[in-house]
Amino acid sequence: MPSYTAPVNDIQFVLHALLDAPSQDIPGYSELDADFTAAVLEEAGKIAGNVLAPLNAVGDREGCVLENGVVRTPTGFKDAFDQMKEGGWTALDCDPEFGGQGMPVLLGTAVGELFSGANQSFTMYQGLTHGAYSAIHAHGTEAQKAKWLPRMVSCDWTGTMNLTEPHCGTDLGLMRTKAVPQDDGSYRITGQKIFISAGDHDMSANVVHLVLAKIPGGPEGIKGVSLFIVPKFLVDDEGTIGARNGVSVGKLEEKMGIHGNSTCVMNYDEAEGYLLGSEHKGMRAMFTMMNEARLGVAMQGMAQAEAAYQNAVIYAKDRLQGRAVTGAENPDGPADPLIVHPDVRRNLMDQKSFVEGARAFMLWGANLLDRSHRMNDAEAEGLVSLLTPVLKGFLTDKGFECAVAAQQVYGGHGYIEEWGMSQFARDARITQIYEGANGVQALDLVGRKLAADGGKHVMGFFELVKAFIKENEGDEALKADFLEPLKSASKDLQAAGMFFMQHGMKNPNAALSGSYDFMHLFGHVCLGLMWARMAKAASTALASQTGDAAFYETKLATGRYYMARQLPATKMHLARIESGAAPVMALSAAAF
Ligand SMILES: Cc1cc2nc3c(=O)[nH]c(=O)nc-3n(C[C@H](O)[C@H](O)[C@H](O)COP(=O)(O)OP(=O)(O)OC[C@H]3O[C@@H](n4cnc5c(N)ncnc54)[C@H](O)[C@@H]3O)c2cc1C
Repeated sequence: MPSYTAPVNDIQFVLHALLDAPSQDIPGYSELDADFTAAVLEEAGKIAGNVLAPLNAVGDREGCVLENGVVRTPTGFKDAFDQMKEGGWTALDCDPEFGGQGMPVLLGTAVGELFSGANQSFTMYQGLTHGAYSAIHAHGTEAQKAKWLPRMVSCDWTGTMNLTEPHCGTDLGLMRTKAVPQDDGSYRITGQKIFISAGDHDMSANVVHLVLAKIPGGPEGIKGVSLFIVPKFLVDDEGTIGARNGVSVGKLEEKMGIHGNSTCVMNYDEAEGYLLGSEHKGMRAMFTMMNEARLGVAMQGMAQAEAAYQNAVIYAKDRLQGRAVTGAENPDGPADPLIVHPDVRRNLMDQKSFVEGARAFMLWGANLLDRSHRMNDAEAEGLVSLLTPVLKGFLTDKGFECAVAAQQVYGGHGYIEEWGMSQFARDARITQIYEGANGVQALDLVGRKLAADGGKHVMGFFELVKAFIKENEGDEALKADFLEPLKSASKDLQAAGMFFMQHGMKNPNAALSGSYDFMHLFGHVCLGLMWARMAKAASTALASQTGDAAFYETKLATGRYYMARQLPATKMHLARIESGAAPVMALSAAAF
């Protein structure tokens, strides 16, 4: 069975050597000194490794079961959920006014990686609740917040997000679920939602569904969508649970992975619901929490890659096959371990260099979210909005690729369920699809985010890269291995942006045929920037002769690998983008 060890040192490196979190002027960051974050991560790591990871295979094997209209979660999930609640882990970055601990999103994301890496399906129950909490927190009335949030922060009641219907997932304007206003100010919700994660289960006393629906007579399409709070059980003004509402589970979906999370068809039959935010502004309410939710999915992608990589390393050191081409390294044994072979090394280095770069990118994203939320910093808000589709699309695509690569290290054993490696790939796969399929992330990036506010945010990103290169150009240790490749990759990204500007207006297909490559090109430049910054942090630490020199040397070597072996992919993506729409759109639909 796979194991999981919290990568505390790597996270600490990003929080402190790279981001220097406690020195940042963001409210709440001064508490994040290295001792404090280490203590939090160590404790979270114990739960991740000892409680959640052993349940990962159990959840995969048993899945959820629908019995008499109620979903039963896999053996051990409820006890583990109670432990998470008792430890206050569900409340870490929630508002203290509602029982939260008020920690920054940065720390919440760092801890979230550990829980998600250990058991994605389990952690989703809490993750979805957090999403619903954020929407109510941002858009609820004072009375709604007082009624729903404290029990959601503690996860006594969990939450869901209900957008998807059988005939619409991406194109939500086609939505049919309706909400009919009642004399008492509430609404009656009727319709069917599908694929609802954590839609029902036996770990909480109530489930608070957030449901998108249309009020009859409202604007057509997406502009007529409103958001509603629809609880499984009605709750009176004192917070006491009452009668069952008109919401039920139609069925549980059979799926490729995340078996431990209940994916439900939810039927709403004149269910009582309460408007959240304004009428017809449901999508706006959703958008305010989308950056956070998408960052959460990006985190899931990288966390699965980390977990799979850890096990691949253990296996590569243990499994004896063949001899090193340069001479036996285990002369007393029948063969050398897999890790001596350059191609196995290549595979592991691909994974390691991605995971560590991705973690830095993800935590930088969380840092920007804190800056935007806690300081109303419009620049940070613009930058994180631009980077969100890149985080979500690139980290989940590469996260899945890494999980498959880790499976490859096991040879045939990777394909056999007993070893648990296929679960990482199966679980990671959904991250490319939900919370907006990755093709739609690319569309959002190129179609909306690039040109937002006159292109100010993408220019801001280029300025960041340029400033870093200029600031460090005298540093010979960084120049050839980090700064020059970063400069070249950044130029490729600019050239791609220029191509869209020159051709996109005349022929939108020219831009959209290259949007997926652009998302990946952008992702590589972001990881290139992260590695250049980490290299600087590592070489500074080495020069000061404090800390673990071997750790910093390893960082530098891993970064060099990324710059030499991964970053050149920007050239390929640029060539594809510059080939325009013609090769992509050459065939008529009938020719397929
Ligand atoms: C396990 C699981 C859990 C889920 N959890 C939830 C949940 O909790 N709540 C919820 O509301 N939903 C949930 N979903 C639904 C998920 O968010 C949708 O499946 C997803 O958004 C895609 O919608 P769709 O399946 O209808 O695909 P479609 O919208 O039909 O899209 C199909 C494909 O076409 C592409 N495409 C669509 N439109 C365009 C376009 N204009 N340009 C380019 N490409 C396009 C997409 O990228 C996609 O690859 C879940 C799904 C699964 C499988």
